[in-house]
Amino acid sequence: MRFPRPFVLAALLSLLTGAAPAAELKLRVLSTTDIHMNLVDYDFVRDEADETIGLNRTAALIAEARAENPNAILVDNGDLLQGAPMGDVAARVRPLKDGELHPAYAAMNLMGYDVAVAGNHEFNYGLELLERAQVGPNFPMLAGNVYRLKADGSAGETLFPASLLLTRSFTDDAGAAREVKIGVIGVLTPQIMNWDKDKLTGKLTTGDAVEAVEREIPLLKAQGADVIVVLAHAGINGQPRQGMDENFSYYLAKVQGVDAVVTGHSHRVFPGKDYEGLAGADLSRGTIDGKPYVMAGSFGSHLGVIDLTLEDASGKWAIKDGRAEARPVAEKGKARLPADAKITEALKDWTEATLAYIRAPIGEAKGPFNTYLALLGDTAALRLVADAQLGYAQKLVQGTPYEGLPLLSAVAPFRVGGRPGPDYYTDVKAGPVAIKDAADLYIYPNMLAIVKLTGAEVREYLEKAARLFNQIDPAKAGPQPLVGNMPAYNFDILFGLTYTIDVTRPARYGRGPAIEDPNAFRIGDILIGGEPLDETKDYLVITNNYRANGGGEFPRMDGTAVALVAPETNREILIEHIRARGEIVPDNTPVWRFAPVPDGPNGPPDIRIEIGPGGAALAAADQRLTRIETNAEGFDVYGVKLGP
Ligand code: MG
Ligand code: MN
Repeated sequence: MRFPRPFVLAALLSLLTGAAPAAELKLRVLSTTDIHMNLVDYDFVRDEADETIGLNRTAALIAEARAENPNAILVDNGDLLQGAPMGDVAARVRPLKDGELHPAYAAMNLMGYDVAVAGNHEFNYGLELLERAQVGPNFPMLAGNVYRLKADGSAGETLFPASLLLTRSFTDDAGAAREVKIGVIGVLTPQIMNWDKDKLTGKLTTGDAVEAVEREIPLLKAQGADVIVVLAHAGINGQPRQGMDENFSYYLAKVQGVDAVVTGHSHRVFPGKDYEGLAGADLSRGTIDGKPYVMAGSFGSHLGVIDLTLEDASGKWAIKDGRAEARPVAEKGKARLPADAKITEALKDWTEATLAYIRAPIGEAKGPFNTYLALLGDTAALRLVADAQLGYAQKLVQGTPYEGLPLLSAVAPFRVGGRPGPDYYTDVKAGPVAIKDAADLYIYPNMLAIVKLTGAEVREYLEKAARLFNQIDPAKAGPQPLVGNMPAYNFDILFGLTYTIDVTRPARYGRGPAIEDPNAFRIGDILIGGEPLDETKDYLVITNNYRANGGGEFPRMDGTAVALVAPETNREILIEHIRARGEIVPDNTPVWRFAPVPDGPNGPPDIRIEIGPGGAALAAADQRLTRIETNAEGFDVYGVKLGP
């Protein structure tokens, strides 16, 4: 039997010196992911400081983690160049000149990154900007499953290198300098060809990410890689592998030779409670199938820390232990460490330019868009969002199996009083509209999602939303509050239909997704284009990832009805819609109406609704409303007549 030469040498050396067993070396892989141009701790959409995000905040955690263990490499896992308004500034408003340093790389060069992978959003501004920006970073970008398209239509070389060998001199536990060769493979969700088809068709093609990793491992091993780390711009999904998976990270643990996986794309935290019950996951160690995994949230909210203990008892480095954690920059809204002032300073000009950009008009409102009367049927503020979603979805479904199905656009009034208080309404006034107004119209950072439902399921969806209202008894004496304690962000309205809601009937649904009262129906007269909804036909409902994956516990909304998920947030889609229109005109045409509530023996029932004082003028002009009092929380209480 022949022993490998290093082993023989090491054995000989220990015989000669009587040395103890070989020393261990602690290697640390630090990672950021889905920074989305949140380079500083400022929410440019809301125009306010936010110390829970920002690469200048993550940088402080990186310095801390390096001080704990200097044997560290730093990687970025993609979705870097697009997202927060500073991305638009660098791409479109003050577009990067030839040779100019992109603000993301201005920050990252100061932080000493070793390597990055492209995320799907790197392609949003087209290939030209992406390639132009690559003059800046002093570290390479990888893209192992994105290929240039050859003239014959086949896949050519990768757009960026698929992998890279980092040779580093680190210090082992005995204090000796030791060489470690770290192979890094970068792959991303292959769906860029659907999401950015207008910019990439004819130029690029994508392949399966897991196969690309399998292809690169022997190449890196042949170059002497001691450790292999995969940068996977993809989420962790325990469903069976299908090939060309969007969220393929989970499968990498099963690939022989992969030692650690950096994940992202779904803006979650691993290890973390989102992944309780995931088969093979150990959330206390941060492993899947024994291999360390990390996902560092989004926007700089977390730092990914993978710790590997290497030992060389066999004559070459082997992994003795691996674990991972995601360290938050903030706890309960408060940052743990001060922001890195060097980075904040380096981005000062870009920050100024971005503030000017978000405060400048993107369009002109020809009248008010507000939600004061949204629970009584006003639609203007919601219709603007619904129209933006519809325009986007019409393009997204093109060329998919869903093309041609009727599209319904779901929007809920997110800001409509309730528990957050009487000032909590969407209120965009006539005049110039800025980006922060788009945040008022759509406050959540949801991604647009499209679900496929039958007509019967669409009716159930509306029944679930109509649970917002209390059951009104026309015969009952005394005040009856119209709105129950369900949050109104679950009161989805389906634009594209018209229908009635009969609040004299009991709710068909309770809190959960199951029918509670099978005989109860509140929704009536559902029409689409003047025709009754066909309960047997398929419809596409445009909503968001929150709703589609179970938020609000709507029937069928457990993720299995999802047809398409866009790579854009509903708010980004709204901003683009307003910008493209220039002028926006409020339209309060009803989508739904209350079915008439009959009088009881003593006349109309005393139905009550609370409206914030900002809606006083609108309420005064509404024939259905009679002002009664201002309550202790500061809401104006009105009597509302829903009679015939
Ligand atoms: Mg992504
Ligand atoms: Mn992302």
